[in-house]
Amino acid sequence: MVEHASDAEPIDLRSDTVTSPDEDMLRAMLGAKVGDDGYGEDPTTNELEEHCADLFGLEAALFLPTGTMSNQIALRVHTRPGDEVITEETYHLNTYESAPTADLAGVSLNAVRTEDGVLRPEHITAAVDGKTRDPRYSQPVLVGLENTVNYRAGLVVGADDLAAVSGFARSRGMRVHLDGARLFNAVVATGTAPERYGAVCDTVSICFAKGLGAPFGSVLAGPADLIGEARYYRKSYGGALHQCGHLAAAALHALRHNVDQLADDHANAALLGGLLADARVAGVVVEDVPTNIVIIDVRATGVVASSVVASIEAEGVRALAISPHRIRFVTHRNVTKRQVEYAAEVVAGVLVDLGVPDGRT
Ligand SMILES: *Cc1c(COP(=O)(O)O)cnc(C)c1O
Repeated sequence: MVEHASDAEPIDLRSDTVTSPDEDMLRAMLGAKVGDDGYGEDPTTNELEEHCADLFGLEAALFLPTGTMSNQIALRVHTRPGDEVITEETYHLNTYESAPTADLAGVSLNAVRTEDGVLRPEHITAAVDGKTRDPRYSQPVLVGLENTVNYRAGLVVGADDLAAVSGFARSRGMRVHLDGARLFNAVVATGTAPERYGAVCDTVSICFAKGLGAPFGSVLAGPADLIGEARYYRKSYGGALHQCGHLAAAALHALRHNVDQLADDHANAALLGGLLADARVAGVVVEDVPTNIVIIDVRATGVVASSVVASIEAEGVRALAISPHRIRFVTHRNVTKRQVEYAAEVVAGVLVDLGVPDGRT
């Protein structure tokens, strides 16, 4: 058994949002030059926005509090009330933001089901042609993509697949927004430059508070006119900040120092997935582990995800029941290889204790 003191902090694998800033990041935040961003006078925020626009080869970028606000403002600037947005049913836009989308942008999602989580031109065609498109009815004007895909265990959508669907959508007169909350996980996993994504999408949003380890923030990048409009909505939604340079400094620090380290998270997730698969607990399906997310499906065990989560929590391991039968574990910079090994033992042990047959015996 891997050692883990019972009075230690729990090993928190619920999300990569649980990280806290390390000392280097805190020092960068403390040393940041700040001003009032309401007047465009916060030099560190301006630097972050320019840095991100350059990174994606896009004209402009805007610092926002959260990835959700980036997505919601992107929808707002790309659409008019009554328009339709095509996305995939497992993407964050649909799983977490469908009602806010109706509320804030006043648009309707056409959430398509795909086999593997990758939207392709044929899905767009089916979504467009599946409804009457007489000009009296609503028109699809935007495609919402996601990379990596959270609900597909951190699936990486290849740059070629992304370019194909995006090019097709644009040829049909639609714009493309990429929810890249974990885009840097895809960048690290594939070696694809961020610019390659920027080249095929109209807007891209990223999150600093996921695996990158900053306490806060997101950036929305895109054409200068749309980002100008986004600045208006950021203010009207109450998301405009003042001396946010301290927070922008954390984001800049994360982009400069924490991107490559995402590879460690991927290695730890692969280790966890491998250990859980090797435990061969009957009926437990370990989904593929392309990046930093491990999802196990316990439907065939007869045990519900929430009871597994409660039992492992009692042994110092936290995970998230994302449905009655799926459990998500996310690796991040605040968990070590040894903690991951311990977590795997706890999960396998708990399933057996809950009466699931141990495949090893
Ligand atoms: C986390 C996440 C978001 C939103 O992030 P918040 O900063 O928590 O609002 C959006 N999209 C995806 C795919 C995410 O994983």
